[in-house]
Amino acid sequence: MNLFSLLDQSAARHGDRGAVYHGEQQVHTWLSLRDRALRLAGSLNGLPPGARVAVASENCPQIVELMFGIWAAECVFVPINYKLHPREMEQIVADSGAALVFASPKIGRDLAPLVSAPVELIGSSDYENRCAADLSPVPRNTDPAALAWLFYTSGTTGRSKGAMLSHRNLMAMTLSHLADFDSPDENSSLVHGAPMSHGSGLYVPPYVLRGARQVVPASGAFDPDEFLDLCERHPGCSAFLAPTMVARLVQTGRSRPANLTTIVYGGGPMYVDSLKKAMAAFGPIFVQLYGQGEAPMTITGLRRADHVDAPDAVLGSVGYARSGVDVAVVRPDGRPAGIDEIGEIVCRGDVVMSGYWQNPSATESTLQDGWLHTGDMGSFDAAGYLTLRDRSKDVVISGGSNIYPREVEEVLLEHPAVVEAGVVGAPDEEWGEVVVAFIVGRVSADDLDAHLLQRIARFKRPKRYEFVDELPKNSYGKVLKRELRSRLI
Ligand code: AMP
Repeated sequence: MNLFSLLDQSAARHGDRGAVYHGEQQVHTWLSLRDRALRLAGSLNGLPPGARVAVASENCPQIVELMFGIWAAECVFVPINYKLHPREMEQIVADSGAALVFASPKIGRDLAPLVSAPVELIGSSDYENRCAADLSPVPRNTDPAALAWLFYTSGTTGRSKGAMLSHRNLMAMTLSHLADFDSPDENSSLVHGAPMSHGSGLYVPPYVLRGARQVVPASGAFDPDEFLDLCERHPGCSAFLAPTMVARLVQTGRSRPANLTTIVYGGGPMYVDSLKKAMAAFGPIFVQLYGQGEAPMTITGLRRADHVDAPDAVLGSVGYARSGVDVAVVRPDGRPAGIDEIGEIVCRGDVVMSGYWQNPSATESTLQDGWLHTGDMGSFDAAGYLTLRDRSKDVVISGGSNIYPREVEEVLLEHPAVVEAGVVGAPDEEWGEVVVAFIVGRVSADDLDAHLLQRIARFKRPKRYEFVDELPKNSYGKVLKRELRSRLI
């Protein structure tokens, strides 16, 4: 099994239809995309199967041909988020032992002096020569367990690690997406708003399998107006967006382009209030995924229909188990937790990674008896909806009670003057930890206290508020709780 077969099938079925677009401009048909990918693979024939090939670029059309070219050569795709600092990129290149790095001209200039692997600029004459090399044969006998993608985690709780994803893992993700969330065809498009190194890129395989267009914004980044314009020009548009990107779409004040049919949001918490605003602005086009690099895009989810007229408890949940995935909540001793009892979320299935690249101790603590320990805390209700609390490391334990920051943040955000809220625990002699809320917004501590007193238990109220201009976020838009905590020590 090799993911290249997805492109092979689409080239046979959809030949001269448009496959890849840069903005509104068609860059490839399915046949020309297949041809370039196989020639790129031919140019990599000096590399042994399993060699890692890194790709560090803003979103660009070439990422699609590189992804399939690297797979056709039976090598491993190692995408690097373009928003990382060159030093962080260098760590990923070194950790993965990449034999070669393809980089955009902008990134390549800074990265080349830092790494020992050769760096080749995407679009350079060397690159174009590769795309004119002899065709590689189509791989027919790749072991389904062979590595396809080294997925470097966003490292919100520590140093970035490489989750090892095989062809089988990504095929399971592909099938689950098509079974649960979306039914694209050759009259559909996947618009890449989020980085193609991560969430958006992971969705390339299901849309390629169904012959849907790959649309890469000309800016290479996420600009809400550009994104909405593209959704007016291309047919049947779907996209994966981080919750912060959805909020930015809503802030444009524009109405939904008729062709925008599906927004999959996830990768971080979407607060109920923001979700309701987004649904009011764009209608019932939202799908939620809960996943992590270790089980790419696929642990639980909420389909479009699940959002319609749903109670807050459902909108605030992360939905139910995805097709082909077993999901459970366990106590610290590994036994299953009861209904509504909070414990660690674990999952298993063909989508789960085989481990972390060259990191047996992290693998051992994360994969136990075939179950992936997500490090997220949550609880199931009687109907099978999972509500995520927080990363286990983010839970605040104050006076022996567990306080889940997400719950306090949800309530703080209901206050009309609160723009952003980040809740963490600060060390405290008397209580062990106390709750501290970082607030963006023009509001007083007294107002917030009065607001909370009417809505949640007294002991969950922050003992302190810190008013700030913005919350620290990583390059994926996730709030950096460890940085907030470090400000309190
Ligand atoms: P990453 O490995 O960088 O993709 O981060 C995965 C983590 O993001 C998960 O373990 C969760 O903590 C968080 N996450 C992913 N999806 C959701 C979601 N739908 N709601 C809340 N948090 C999420």
